[in-house]
Amino acid sequence: MGVAFVTGGCMVRTVVCPVCGGEVELMDDVMDGEIIEHDCGATLVVRIEGDNIKLEEFQGVEEDWGE
Ligand SMILES: [Zn+2]
Repeated sequence: MGVAFVTGGCMVRTVVCPVCGGEVELMDDVMDGEIIEHDCGATLVVRIEGDNIKLEEFQGVEEDWGE
């Protein structure tokens, strides 16, 4: 029995950063609502709608979090 490895490596999607307009690389298995940090210092939230992936700037206004 053969073991089939997935060829081509990991799928990476490139999405535009809504803050700086630069490219953000996301793994194909990124999850909706995932928080990522971009090189520009922005904190972004992943929004998945069907096959489309969008990024929104994360607004750190939830001051109830933490202390
Ligand atoms: Zn950015």
